[in-house]
Amino acid sequence: MRIGIDLGGTKIEIIALDDSRELLRERVATPQSAYRDTVAAIRDLVTAAEQKLERRGSVGVAIPGTISPLTGLVKNANSTRLIGHPLDRDLAAALNREVRVANDANCFVLSETSDGAASGADIVFGIIVGTGCGGGICIGGRVLTGAHAITGEWGHNPLPSPTTSELAISPRCYCGRANCIESWISGTGLEADYARRGDHKLTAGEIADRAAAGEPLAAAVMADFHDRFARAVAGIVNILDPDVIVIGGGLSNIDALYTELPRRVESYAFTPEGRTRIVKNQHGDSSGVRGAAWLWSADEAAALLLK
Ligand SMILES: [Zn+2]
Repeated sequence: MRIGIDLGGTKIEIIALDDSRELLRERVATPQSAYRDTVAAIRDLVTAAEQKLERRGSVGVAIPGTISPLTGLVKNANSTRLIGHPLDRDLAAALNREVRVANDANCFVLSETSDGAASGADIVFGIIVGTGCGGGICIGGRVLTGAHAITGEWGHNPLPSPTTSELAISPRCYCGRANCIESWISGTGLEADYARRGDHKLTAGEIADRAAAGEPLAAAVMADFHDRFARAVAGIVNILDPDVIVIGGGLSNIDALYTELPRRVESYAFTPEGRTRIVKNQHGDSSGVRGAAWLWSADEAAALLLK
């Protein structure tokens, strides 16, 4: 049995998998108190699940951040409570077994490659586009972490081939740079672009819906959004040449992405010889928690539990 935990800012979700079959799924509110309460909440969830199912499992945890290979401590987490703590070691001590912790975008791409929309593909780039823009890479079924655990963080590359008007706007990003891809390719970026050009604000979903219904301003904003998205994805294609790009996060529900992006990416990438497959995720909000469980292969989980 493999157990996955998705540790979010407001909820902690647990899943227990027997291969791809879901044995149990529960969620509790994330403690808004001290760090040690979060560790205890995860320990209690795992213990209760194992008692209920009458078996032990391997444990993987998805977090909105990563463990620094340099320090062994959590970094880049938007749940700031976790930053600076050795979460994997603290959970291992609490649960009396090795625990794997990975970035939630990495868990997303691992889930979709293991038994989702990119199932069986060799090279997969996973994109999460919601309030922000992140990503992860799976090759041969294995998720890449990277020397500094920042693999796939393409959202903080500069927007490629910016137009004069994009350069004039150059939105500031929280990372300290300007004109990051995330400043344009995200729900917040899309909404800001519409608000700049219109005289009122709309949500990203409303903009996409109005564009699909033919409203001129929304259609123009979405066309620019697709063009920027395609420029950014073409850079990935030129380096990684993935078999599949799978999109998750709130904006993955915009249907036009899957018809607009492939042809635009083809025109911007180095060798316009064929289109990269760009698909919507299969597991939706469950990709993080499922991918966390997949951080252990079946063989690794079996070996761990024999110890
Ligand atoms: Zn940035």
